[in-house]
Amino acid sequence: MNISFDNTYARLPERFFKPQLPAKVPAPELIRVNRELAGELGIDAEWLESDEGLSVLAGNAIAEGSEPIAQAYAGHQFGHFVPQLGDGRAILLGEVVSGNGKRYDLQLKGSGRTAFSRAGDGKSALGPVIREYILSEAMAALGVPTTRALAAVATGETVYRQEGEVPGGVFTRVASSHVRVGTFQYFQSRGDVDAIRSLADFVIKRHYPEALQAEDPYLALLRNVVERQASLVAQWMSLGFIHGVMNTDNMAVSGETIDYGPCAFMEVFHPECVFSSIDRNARYAWGNQGNIAFWNLTRLAEALLPVIDEKPEDSSRKAEAVLNEFTDRFADQYVARFKSKLGSSEVVSKELIQETLQLLASQEVDFTLFFRHLTRSAGGASTAELEDLFKNRDTFGEWFSKWSAMDVSTEGLQAMQRANPILTPRNHRVEQAIQAAYRSDYSVFHRLVNALATPFVDDPANRDLEARPLPEEVVHQTFCGT
Ligand code: AMP
Ligand code: MG
Repeated sequence: MNISFDNTYARLPERFFKPQLPAKVPAPELIRVNRELAGELGIDAEWLESDEGLSVLAGNAIAEGSEPIAQAYAGHQFGHFVPQLGDGRAILLGEVVSGNGKRYDLQLKGSGRTAFSRAGDGKSALGPVIREYILSEAMAALGVPTTRALAAVATGETVYRQEGEVPGGVFTRVASSHVRVGTFQYFQSRGDVDAIRSLADFVIKRHYPEALQAEDPYLALLRNVVERQASLVAQWMSLGFIHGVMNTDNMAVSGETIDYGPCAFMEVFHPECVFSSIDRNARYAWGNQGNIAFWNLTRLAEALLPVIDEKPEDSSRKAEAVLNEFTDRFADQYVARFKSKLGSSEVVSKELIQETLQLLASQEVDFTLFFRHLTRSAGGASTAELEDLFKNRDTFGEWFSKWSAMDVSTEGLQAMQRANPILTPRNHRVEQAIQAAYRSDYSVFHRLVNALATPFVDDPANRDLEARPLPEEVVHQTFCGT
């Protein structure tokens, strides 16, 4: 066997999924295999890059041991409940257990219609494939829990999207699971308590085995998800990351970032910043992500109510108490991350964090560059580049004298260097990689992926990737491209 599949989701009751073979594509071409990740999963990268491996990655062949299925789920999209979404353009090939004993899903995205496709074609344009590869691997390198990219292939097929006819692609996603808040909601909306219990047992076994020791394992499950999401969203915000489509179907109970549709790293800082073309009410703005995570977790708690306690009043009371832990958790994580970014865990106050962010917003400062150059200043470099980011030098000067009154210790400097990346996937660079890929030139993509693998390393060869876009290069909106 080239991939040692060990499938457990396919053993769950039949109503959890629909068996579905991927569609065949005419002329698959390998763009990239993530060799390192393949190695971690015990998959021979050379085989993946062979014609046989490419056939599997394109959906033209089924690897031995694979049991392809489309998973059922529901979800609140922009606050509106949709009782059936499901894998409309994704197929779970199966699960593998890595060298360190962790279990991962292997999923093809863009491999044709499924029982959940509704009006969609089940395919993916190459753009979103390139985008997800770059973004998810950049997040992993930044230390953020996330789904990963195992491979990207071009299909030789044309798909029809808003922008017209574009080349198609298939993306291979690796996730510690694909169970979403919306998976629980799927069964909740059908009144299927047995299924909720089976799913909760599955999630506990897979992600939170220690919850089995708790007095109330299902409540412990909820607490674990609350904690992971509080930490995840605080980390996103500390990096200027805007998920863009935090629907409940796009929130994984594992605590990994999932769904790289219209997400973006913010450049000029503003708490209300939104990139997604479909987020018209700024529901998923940078500064609203904590609130939304709480809203989504409340939906998860509601779905779990029937299994938490037999008595509805007790169930609600217990769930509410756990949910309310989110607020403090999130605030603590957020403050801790920004304290590191500003150079000290002891001296930096919440007020200074707030004041700094207000300054960045009013002066329209690039988020990543600000913290990057602040880190350099803390290390003794000239403040010239930092100062250059500001419109008004006096305003900057005032803030800077306050900040520099606090002496950054060696540990503080190290914390800054770990918290403040030099490279993030800038929107115009991602866009350039996509446009080049549409011309079958993958060199821009490869260079970006390679550079973003070490986002904290100061490599003079990457100065252009670090820089702000030229005015004509600025990307104002992102699209799901589905
Ligand atoms: P997403 O925007 O990825 O969160 O997708 C929301 C829902 O739409 C999911 O059920 C997807 O499977 C489905 N979907 C998105 N694009 C397509 C497509 N091209 N064909 C079929 N279903 C799709
Ligand atoms: Mg999704």
